[in-house]
Amino acid sequence: MDLGIAGKWALVCGASKGLGFGCAKALAGEGVNVVMVARGLEALEAAAANLRAHAAKEPVEVIPVQADITTAEGRAAVFAVRKDFDIVVTNAGGPPTGDFREWDRDAWIKALDANMLTPIELIKAVVDGMAARGFGRIVNITSSAVKAPIDILGLSNGARSGLTGFVAGMARNPQLASKGVTINNLLPGKFDTDRLAGMYKSMAEKAGKTANDMRAMQENQVPARRLGKPEEFGAICAFLCSQQAGYLTGQNILPDGGLYPGTY
Ligand code: NAP
Repeated sequence: MDLGIAGKWALVCGASKGLGFGCAKALAGEGVNVVMVARGLEALEAAAANLRAHAAKEPVEVIPVQADITTAEGRAAVFAVRKDFDIVVTNAGGPPTGDFREWDRDAWIKALDANMLTPIELIKAVVDGMAARGFGRIVNITSSAVKAPIDILGLSNGARSGLTGFVAGMARNPQLASKGVTINNLLPGKFDTDRLAGMYKSMAEKAGKTANDMRAMQENQVPARRLGKPEEFGAICAFLCSQQAGYLTGQNILPDGGLYPGTY
């Protein structure tokens, strides 16, 4: 299916690895030009080279920007490259796990900055331009923890739920929705990325097991009996950014291999 977005410009945050990279690659595969953001230069440049090599038949522009998207300076560096994005995928690292008794105000502010306020700043910076041009797609990478909170990820549960509530209201603003701007959240379940590998390693150390044991245990909890692939996540993201998805807004899409047990 032709998604009808070739030639558009996308900003993909947290794009050198994992889910962000999956989204950037799927968009580039559709002929979308991509500005990709991450802090570490080496992985970012390797990811950009990968995208250029595997983009659509038509060559696409791929511009890596080394920046911390959770800072005002980082966002300024991105918007210095380009302001009029058609597509924005918001994403940054998730907060650390832990016990809520250990989290002080600073820990909460960091989590809110990364997983709630940064996406809101990015949305604010682009949506009016999108509405004026009559097309816009925002996809926020959040977490399945928004629907099924995970106790040790309280910082994530809280910050991302705040973003979800904000998006639920603003996506339905007729000044945006009637002008071709859609805003949706994509909630990963368990995907095979560096972040998850790191979590299995630290869980294994605590449990006296191997990271492979932890991974197998987690895979067994999923009805699909496997972790998701970043490219599967990217394909859903690209569809949410398509012309065909123009009537889908304010939704929380949950790719999780059937893990969430609820009807709704
Ligand atoms: P990942 O494999 O660790 O990749 C994270 C990417 O974001 C990297 O490219 C990283 O590069 C970049 N990044 C992190 N902090 C950044 C910042 N402040 N500014 C710019 N770029 C930044 O993580 P992932 O598994 O893809 O997860 C992506 C998001 O989904 C996270 O918020 C995570 O909590 C959430 N999530 C993931 C899963 C899963 O199964 N994987 C499940 C639920 C939720 P640099 O470090 O070089 O900046």
